[in-house]
Amino acid sequence: MIDSQTPVEAYIGLGSNLDNPVANLHSAYQAICALNSVTSPVLSPLYSSKPVGPQDQPDYVNAVLRINTSLSAQQLLTELQQIENAHGRVRNIRWGARTLDLDILLFGNEVINDTNLIVPHVEMANRGFVLYPLADIAPSDLQIGQSSLAQLLAACPADGLHKITE
Ligand code: ATP
Ligand code: MG
Ligand code: MG
Repeated sequence: MIDSQTPVEAYIGLGSNLDNPVANLHSAYQAICALNSVTSPVLSPLYSSKPVGPQDQPDYVNAVLRINTSLSAQQLLTELQQIENAHGRVRNIRWGARTLDLDILLFGNEVINDTNLIVPHVEMANRGFVLYPLADIAPSDLQIGQSSLAQLLAACPADGLHKITE
């Protein structure tokens, strides 16, 4: 039986393209680190990327954060949504501009198909702005569904993506 208190290694994708995105990502990082039941945070470098979906919006700043947590995946999602809201996230146009997006990419080896939470994140395998920062902080043999991170990276162009911090 799995002890719910055993920490799980989780990866979170961070993104912003409004109202000082670099500051938003750093502030979100601080807020996640300050959560109870979150330890050992490691933040990737920050990257600039071209928007997904509507192109008439500013470029994004993206990063990936690894944590250990004894929260459940659903509890973590609730906390992340509260942090998004506290950063002025407004939900209107799909993939439209936003002050902060926090997505659960991986939650240990869990496969989750709830109505409000799908893990591994459905689109992560196709997104350079997720895979490249992930590769800065995760082993290349990390499993994402049926593939390794290295396999996904080899098939994913880094179009329009560049590192803006170390
Ligand atoms: P995308 O999922 O393509 O990156 P998005 O991040 O812009 O799009 P949001 O508006 O942030 O989408 O979230 C829409 C819904 O996605 C949320 O209400 C949340 O319940 C759901 N969701 C499903 N899986 C996840 C996940 N792994 N992490 C975060 N939210 C998720
Ligand atoms: Mg997203
Ligand atoms: Mg999201």
